[in-house]
Amino acid sequence: MKKLIQRLHRERTLSPDEFRILIDECNDDGLQLINNIAKDEAQKHFGNNVLIRGLIEIGNCCSNDCYYCGIRRSNRNIERYRLDRDTIMECCKEGYKLGFRTIVMQGGEDKYMNDERIVDIVSSIRSTYKDVAITLSLGEKSAESYKKFYDAGANRYLLRHETYNKKHYSKLHPESMSLDNRIQCLYNLKEIGYQTGTGIMVGSPGQTTDNIVEDILFIEKFKPQMIGIGPFIPHSDTPFAEYSMGSLNTTLLLLSIFRIMHPHALIPSTTALASIAPDGRERGILAGANVVMPNLSPYNQRKKYSLYNNKASMGAEAAEGLALLEQKLNSIGYNIDYSRGDFHEVRL
Ligand code: SAM
Repeated sequence: MKKLIQRLHRERTLSPDEFRILIDECNDDGLQLINNIAKDEAQKHFGNNVLIRGLIEIGNCCSNDCYYCGIRRSNRNIERYRLDRDTIMECCKEGYKLGFRTIVMQGGEDKYMNDERIVDIVSSIRSTYKDVAITLSLGEKSAESYKKFYDAGANRYLLRHETYNKKHYSKLHPESMSLDNRIQCLYNLKEIGYQTGTGIMVGSPGQTTDNIVEDILFIEKFKPQMIGIGPFIPHSDTPFAEYSMGSLNTTLLLLSIFRIMHPHALIPSTTALASIAPDGRERGILAGANVVMPNLSPYNQRKKYSLYNNKASMGAEAAEGLALLEQKLNSIGYNIDYSRGDFHEVRL
């Protein structure tokens, strides 16, 4: 195991069979070793700093019906909401005051939020806050729509591919959704010029080790600037209510694999990770993550953006809890980096 990890570090890749062994047979000592190597790798490029992004969940109305997601169309048990432009601008104002220089707008695929409305919001943020990076995570759109948002001032886009295996994709999504379209969206985003993020849920129902290897190889080929890895967590009002959550250790292992393979990538220690273990966020950072995304959404709407049960959105996961976040990061020897934190590739 040690030799395999050291070779991954040296060569920044392994064969599919070796990845399989690493995922299936990594014991506690192996995990400790790979987490340490990945942490050192992150420190080499980013120092003891963690970038922050202010997350605004702009609405939970969604026309998609992904089987894992609490805001899926068929869930009748949630109160739907959508933030208007003025509310979003208020969140940005608050975020800017707190020191955020990246705003992430995430939401369901909501027909009401058409191109015109999104362009209007992006342009308002761009003209008010010239030095802020604008990240969108609004799902699958046409290349023309992505281009309009980009021209209005958006810089980055997060769209997890969720799984690179077609059979697995069809277990997670209804027939109306296709892996091909999702992957095409990712290539379109990159082509337009977005810093592009993709990723997976760890332990999603039906996921096999082979699927994870396929994800690693796709991400190796695609070279995203951002990689989002979090555990799957069941939501009680979805068809996957009875499945168990993804493993903390496998998530930490994958974070480290991705850090070692993509030393300069922006890799968040995700809210899902912070939701499954009290020290999940910190452990993600100690496994090579270098970004956290505190919640800037209006306080009274936060609980409604319930993708999975017990989702953290308060305390150090809340933008107004920055002091607490700072304390937690300090306790593991890290500081908040208030810069915009763009992706910079440097030759190795
Ligand atoms: N609609 C946009 C999209 O599809 O990319 C953005 C919103 S979507 C809710 C954001 C991400 O939440 C998904 O990419 C998925 O990986 C994650 N997610 C949804 N349900 C989840 C669950 N039950 N456990 C963990 N992550 C989940």
